[in-house]
Amino acid sequence: MRAKIIWENGYIMPWSKGTMHVMNPSMHYGIAAFEGIRFYRTDRGPAIFRLNEHIARLFYSMNVLGMPSPYNHHHLKTAMIELIRLGGMDEGYIRPIAYFSDEQVGLKNAGGNIAIQIGLFSWGKTAKQSLRVTQSRYMRIHPKTTDVEAKISGHYVNTHLALKDAMAKGFDDAILLDHNGTIAEASAANIFAVQKYKIITPERGSILNGITRQTIIQLLRDNHFTVEEQSITPYALLAESLEIFLCGTAYEIIPVTQLDEYTINNGFPGFLTAVIAKMYRRVIHGMDNRYAHWLTYVA
Ligand code: PMP
Repeated sequence: MRAKIIWENGYIMPWSKGTMHVMNPSMHYGIAAFEGIRFYRTDRGPAIFRLNEHIARLFYSMNVLGMPSPYNHHHLKTAMIELIRLGGMDEGYIRPIAYFSDEQVGLKNAGGNIAIQIGLFSWGKTAKQSLRVTQSRYMRIHPKTTDVEAKISGHYVNTHLALKDAMAKGFDDAILLDHNGTIAEASAANIFAVQKYKIITPERGSILNGITRQTIIQLLRDNHFTVEEQSITPYALLAESLEIFLCGTAYEIIPVTQLDEYTINNGFPGFLTAVIAKMYRRVIHGMDNRYAHWLTYVA
């Protein structure tokens, strides 16, 4: 594993040299926008998966917070490519974060100078093969309390509590319901269920519209599967699902084998989930030319 490094407002430095004054307002109120991005090994060297979409979502989140970016799309793209080249890793994770950097707390100070930092560290295979999840006692943030489609630091208080509670009960992750009592998402992943004739996933409204979620919907439709974005009750999830899986940049695609006291697919990873995971793996590693436009090669 090569050393972790960081890009701070245009300068690349060792991980340990990263700086941030603790009295900035973003730190205190969760007013920051960030992304989680992976890059993978391919035959042509490392490639960043769906970088353009991640940068676009970062700008969207910043916009929601009233945070005009000091860097444009091209600057950030170049910065990430440069980081990966310098880091010398062929697989890893990139974490850009934008925040209000004035050394002065107070909500009204969340509007001054804006800083962007980008951390880079190595990340190979996702460790877990399957997940045991529990329906959370915490509700997913209501869409009228904030913009749930923005990836904003403060939103993660909600999923932190849900995940902590799930783990304390011996589960790997939490499934949060939305304000209607229907399935929303996991702590940092979207959810899909395989039914008899179709694959379903919660509709947009109370969820982060994950880039992995969008990728899976497209891959499935391109391969003539029926995918529906719809509201899913907890009862329907249990009663009508042959398979369940979670997906996200960090998880990629991981089967759920248990939901509270119920086993899913007899406790085994599902067949179709494995098929989808394989399709996804081929795409991220540059083995499916139809999706070459989703990869940004670093070499
Ligand atoms: N939902 C939440 C709450 C998340 O934090 C994430 C991770 N970004 C996801 C879903 C999955 O999104 P993506 O596929 O873009 O990583």
